[in-house]
Amino acid sequence: MAISFGELGISKSLRKGLNELGIKEPTEIQAKAIPTLLEMETDFIAQAKTGSGKTAAFGLPILMNIDPEVQQIQALILSPTRELCQQIAKQLFKFTKYTEKIFIESVYGGAKIDEQIRRLKRPTHIIVATPGRLLDLVERKAIQLDGINTVVLDEADEMMSMGFKKQLNQILEITKSKKQTWLFSATMPDHVKQIIKTYLSPKAKSIGAEMRLEANRDINYQYTVSTTPEKFKILLSFLNSQSNSRGLIFCNTKKSAINLTNLLIGKDVSVDVLEGGMKQLERDKVMRAFKKERIQLLVATDVAARGLDVKDLGFVVHYELPMHLDEFTHRSGRTGRAGNKGLALCLAEENETAKIKFFEKGLNMKMKLIR
Ligand code: AMP
Repeated sequence: MAISFGELGISKSLRKGLNELGIKEPTEIQAKAIPTLLEMETDFIAQAKTGSGKTAAFGLPILMNIDPEVQQIQALILSPTRELCQQIAKQLFKFTKYTEKIFIESVYGGAKIDEQIRRLKRPTHIIVATPGRLLDLVERKAIQLDGINTVVLDEADEMMSMGFKKQLNQILEITKSKKQTWLFSATMPDHVKQIIKTYLSPKAKSIGAEMRLEANRDINYQYTVSTTPEKFKILLSFLNSQSNSRGLIFCNTKKSAINLTNLLIGKDVSVDVLEGGMKQLERDKVMRAFKKERIQLLVATDVAARGLDVKDLGFVVHYELPMHLDEFTHRSGRTGRAGNKGLALCLAEENETAKIKFFEKGLNMKMKLIR
């Protein structure tokens, strides 16, 4: 019998909330991380892939350690995109349904800062933020970081590759003396190692950090090889074969995402697009429609889809193959989450078979060629 959340030290009131969300047994990373993080006063490094349950792995220990009586920000969670910030804040909020009131705010770029400043005037215990907007709010004295005891860097590799290096360094400098830092990252490239070396204790506990990047065994990887003009037809016939299943289709650029969406709409497919150039309101609207299942498919670019957590995604299509293994892993990780089965299909062009081999090797798996 697997270890329970109670045995890991999670309170009854939090367990009640988890149970209602269908979170009954800890995932591997939760089982490993939670006992260590509850001890507190430890820096911590975890190599964790998307869908592993990492939000609860750091979120539950944070919630356990908040003192609701103290009206100060006690924990700071940094995350690369606004969608991810909103998602983390929402998950934590749901976990606290039966606990004492713990106030969580998410702040991110691309939304009105005045409105965020207004919200921050209320008591707040946990901030979930993108690095740039956090610094902006600190500079405007809308956020006081004096009372924080925990900083979480979520998806550290993504924050670095999105160009937040300078801001992260600034934030970690500001918060250096007064806290423990927990770093979560799917991959450990050199610039993430540099952060660890500079800002985390050499005694930091580490889990899975030596781990190879592993493919999620719940994902069935497939690929086709065709010319560029054939790809749209292949996509349509694939979508037909998936009947009511919901999925994400990835493109490499805003332009191709928009083009593909228009082509699909022309074929009466229930689809919308999520790309980085869209305004916050538009993005929220599309996300809501997708989550509420008013649209069946989403065409997305990498940045826009980072960290999206939508239940029961049946498949992911790499309509254009990504440049890097990281992106391939992140994209594919939108399906096959939390123990469900998923399908990831690559529409490779004739000159891209080496890339397929490269992804196979990087993730130590085999993709099936579909003809
Ligand atoms: P994450 O890796 O934190 O983005 O979580 C992925 C999804 O798994 C989220 O929808 C969580 O609500 C869900 N989840 C997290 N922990 C568990 C668990 N122990 N059992 C079932 N689902 C979980």
